[in-house]
Amino acid sequence: MCRVFATQMLLCPVVLLPVISLLARLVSPAVQLEIATFGATADYKQNRFYKSALEKGLDVILRPARLRSRLPDIVQVDMPSVSRETHFGTVGKFNTDYSPSVITQYVSERTGMTVVVVDQKGPKVLGFFALATEIHDDSGAPHTLEHLCFMGSKSYRYKGVLDKLATRAYSTTNAWTATDHTAYTLDTAGWAGFAQILPVYLEHVIVPTLTDAGCYTEVHHVDGSGHDAGVVYSEMQGVQNTQGELMDLRSKRLLYPEGIGFRYETGGMMEQLRVLTADRIREFHREMYQPKNLCLVIVGEIDHTDLLGILDDFEGTILLDIPKPAAPFKRPWVESKPTPALQKTSVVTVDFPEEDESSGEIMISFFGPDCNDAVLGK
Ligand SMILES: [Zn+2]
Repeated sequence: MCRVFATQMLLCPVVLLPVISLLARLVSPAVQLEIATFGATADYKQNRFYKSALEKGLDVILRPARLRSRLPDIVQVDMPSVSRETHFGTVGKFNTDYSPSVITQYVSERTGMTVVVVDQKGPKVLGFFALATEIHDDSGAPHTLEHLCFMGSKSYRYKGVLDKLATRAYSTTNAWTATDHTAYTLDTAGWAGFAQILPVYLEHVIVPTLTDAGCYTEVHHVDGSGHDAGVVYSEMQGVQNTQGELMDLRSKRLLYPEGIGFRYETGGMMEQLRVLTADRIREFHREMYQPKNLCLVIVGEIDHTDLLGILDDFEGTILLDIPKPAAPFKRPWVESKPTPALQKTSVVTVDFPEEDESSGEIMISFFGPDCNDAVLGK
């Protein structure tokens, strides 16, 4: 499910004037103009959390500009190289014979977070931050969580801040919820911008605010005219009764018995989104969004030492917010009940609402071989 960009914040001179006047001395005219379009709604204008998030974020983005502005004053001196301790160990490294790439895998001994770096020439750096997510109901907790992670984090408490900062680092963000994983993406021109946004983005994923207000706004609420509303609710309302979705859901119900994750609609069914609570979403986040269940895949021209340093620093800021890394953890899917074989062939008809009754669709579903079976799976 793709994320909906819903809110465009309005210009707020009260917040911006001190920031702009400060920046005017530090950055080029082009950057000043860009910053002048970044504001907040009147509700936010006096909020100290918003102000500090904005200023902190701009500091991250503009640090290189500040350094550049001081360049004439900086005298280059030869410094001894400093090797830094990292908590990330190399698990494996190999060249691929099908593309000009080198793949390296690191794992953090502190949190268990996995990082896979694909060294590849090119101007773009692509990041995929994937979590294995498994649920045994149609509540939509995985999908709602995907939306709520963009609503603010521990240090950046408002919706839109991440995307605005990402834009300033020549980046775009997006995310999707599949049945067996949730993935967040960061797409940047060059390593420097990627490196700036990475810790801000990861904080949104691992330590989001997940407020009650955010859930009402983004997931489901009843509006002033008595109608169901909410970004996720509206998204699912648009697809739940289409012929493809109805047929797919019936197929999943026939293939998988209760207690098997593939049986369920991770996007959320409208009936269940209406009663989904913020506490249930927080519980799901705490269970699934742990660094040990997170794999970062980063593709492009990557500075490995810089990357591991950023991730080390990031881990240091979240250790008190996550479950203890040594606490018992059931790995989603890997340690779950296996899917039993089909006992019989079923042929069913699925009705769907449509004005045009001239055509329909046929779906044929069956289990393939085990994907881990090197002989049959070939
Ligand atoms: Zn969505």
